[in-house]
Amino acid sequence: MNAEIIAVGSELLLGQIVNTNARFISQHLAGAGINVYYHTVVGDNPDRLKSAIEIAEDRSDLIIFTGGLGPTKDDLTKETIAKHIGKELVFDENALESIEAYFKKTNRQMTENNRKQALVLEGSYVLANDHGMAPGMVVESKRHVYMLLPGPPKEMEPMFIEYGLTALSLQVKSNDKIVSRVLRFFGIGEAALETEIIDLIDSQSNPTIAPLAGDGEVTLRLTAKHQDHDTAIKMLDEVEQKISARVGQFLYGYNNTSLVEELSKVLKAKNVTIGAAESLTGGMFQKELTSVPGASSILKGGVVCYTNEVKHQVLKVKQETIDMYGVVSEQCALELAENVSSLVGADIGISFTGVAGPDEQEGKPVGTVYIGLSIQGRPGVVEKVILAGSREANRTRAVKFGYYYLLKHLKESQNA
Ligand code: ATP
Ligand code: MG
Repeated sequence: MNAEIIAVGSELLLGQIVNTNARFISQHLAGAGINVYYHTVVGDNPDRLKSAIEIAEDRSDLIIFTGGLGPTKDDLTKETIAKHIGKELVFDENALESIEAYFKKTNRQMTENNRKQALVLEGSYVLANDHGMAPGMVVESKRHVYMLLPGPPKEMEPMFIEYGLTALSLQVKSNDKIVSRVLRFFGIGEAALETEIIDLIDSQSNPTIAPLAGDGEVTLRLTAKHQDHDTAIKMLDEVEQKISARVGQFLYGYNNTSLVEELSKVLKAKNVTIGAAESLTGGMFQKELTSVPGASSILKGGVVCYTNEVKHQVLKVKQETIDMYGVVSEQCALELAENVSSLVGADIGISFTGVAGPDEQEGKPVGTVYIGLSIQGRPGVVEKVILAGSREANRTRAVKFGYYYLLKHLKESQNA
């Protein structure tokens, strides 16, 4: 399949804005293995748009349009394509409802023009607009696939990623139901995860399995299509089970959750409190934890114990421990975790001590981090991680590892 992107908008031709939409779409199509052979820009003029479409049809299978889906008179992409391929424009009920809801939410008066935005090409698969009003759509006619996307990048980009790419890879029809689920992993790299499930990735076409890495986490987006919604969900369950059987120990949550959110949920459910002794993380663990609503029932407090004196005088780490093992050590991490929990009167103590960089410390290399965990009723544990990023990245990652190990040990204590 080869693609052409037609960006519609006189502002582009006047040089008032840059065609970032074409760049964005091209990048992602390349990632999906679809060749982009042409970028076209045309103004808000039906005749010139029509001739751009005719030229594109001669040389491309997939034609992606951006812009001109709005409510005003110069927005004529849909109308021009409808006329050209001989399809009617029909109201899409879901789109109409979400436009009405959008006006209610923003407390504005809806006009007749806005209803026009809910018109879609008959027989098209509608792409929901989660960040604005005009829905996108994909429609097939003769030998071509046409995809229509809104102009504003903040609407177009998420729509294209969440729905557009899936619609292309699953070749959806208008009555298909598409469901997707994001599995979130931590503690395993993208390459390692892919290696574990490469046969599943390669052999699946429905559901699709799409890996994405970022922020030290790896996610897999599973997407299934079926005319029956419940069947599509069952299909997702089945692939998820296969994936979990191999890398389930790294799976920590679904969709838009985060490690800190999952940890908060577990701590709340168990009705336990936590205290933190933070050296290299300087309070980042507690800062993030307090960003979750209801944190006061979980976090008792903690100490930023950056210097050796504070570790010794406030958190009572034994002088012998510091002299013998140093502060970047398993022994120090353990004492910090145990002592901070008793200092603040929490059920759990966690500590972070390590070398964020750029210089090594106590002869230990940059990126060495010890995370101490003292969970009431269990022997204390220390997890050592070696990180390889910049100073800031190491601190951020250390905090994430803190959440991750805490979740892991809390789950184990539940199973024990
Ligand atoms: P709206 O509902 O906002 O009118 P629309 O789908 O009709 O959306 P346009 O009217 O063509 O889209 O463009 C709206 C805005 O989106 C433009 O003012 C511009 O800021 C941005 N935009 C449009 N096309 C592009 C593009 N190709 N690249 C980057 N930004 C674009
Ligand atoms: Mg417009």
